[in-house]
Amino acid sequence: MTGASVGVDVGGTFAKIALVDARGRTLRSARFPTEPERGPREFVARAAAAVAGWRFSALGLGLAGGVDAGTGTLLFTPNLPGWKGFAFRRAFERRLKVPVVVDNDANVAVWGGYVVGLKRKPRHAVGVTLGTGVGGGLILNGALHRGAGGAAGELGHQVIRAGGAPCACGRRGCLEAYAGTAAILRAARRRMRRRPSPLTPRAVADAARAGDAGARAVWEEVGAALGQGLANAVLMFNPDAIVVLGGVARAGELLLAPVRRVFAEQPFREPFARLALSAPAERDWGCVGAALLAREGR
Ligand SMILES: [Zn+2]
Repeated sequence: MTGASVGVDVGGTFAKIALVDARGRTLRSARFPTEPERGPREFVARAAAAVAGWRFSALGLGLAGGVDAGTGTLLFTPNLPGWKGFAFRRAFERRLKVPVVVDNDANVAVWGGYVVGLKRKPRHAVGVTLGTGVGGGLILNGALHRGAGGAAGELGHQVIRAGGAPCACGRRGCLEAYAGTAAILRAARRRMRRRPSPLTPRAVADAARAGDAGARAVWEEVGAALGQGLANAVLMFNPDAIVVLGGVARAGELLLAPVRRVFAEQPFREPFARLALSAPAERDWGCVGAALLAREGR
């Protein structure tokens, strides 16, 4: 396929749309409130209006929830109430007359980080997206691994502390309950004596870089939890590379150094020996990945 494709990343609050070329460069972009209460049909109409006049030959959609990638239907979703069961692929294809691919938002972001963020595409990669939630995606044999029902790669909801902190998903001790934004801010309130206002992960990272001992301890704690979750994924999938994405990944080495430490302490060394761990510069990976996935028709 030649020409550009469009990627749409639909979160509970905002939707981002980008026109992306074959090399993953963003040519144009737009953003508007998702307003889930207006319903999925109207969302499709608004997204179509946003790309009016753009020239593209495929569209990819990443949705916050579980997706049947075969039919492009949203199966379950915590953040888009009333959208469950809607067949997005058919609705977009009817309106825009281009092939459409629909997948989970973390899957498309990991695909973008894998294709564009990793220079030499390894065969097997594990991706994690850090933000309000902790998402994940698996690239096995160069393809997204979706599992039987589109729910594979939910790295954020693996239990890393049995009976531990409650998670938004209803379980206890999930990785998300230790490395999601709420957990980072909770750790900051506990560990930092002089807290920045507003208190955000970015502000905690800035404070750590400026030498605040409490802020540094926050990233040690969060990075150690992330390292534990990623070590589990390494033992399960033996990837060549791990890619860390999302707004919180901007903490960079503050977060990655403790992950490396956890890896170095693993008794079962072999799968960690040649593993590449990186956090590519922040972009709208969801849009980029959705667009690239669509142009490949998968
Ligand atoms: Zn959970």
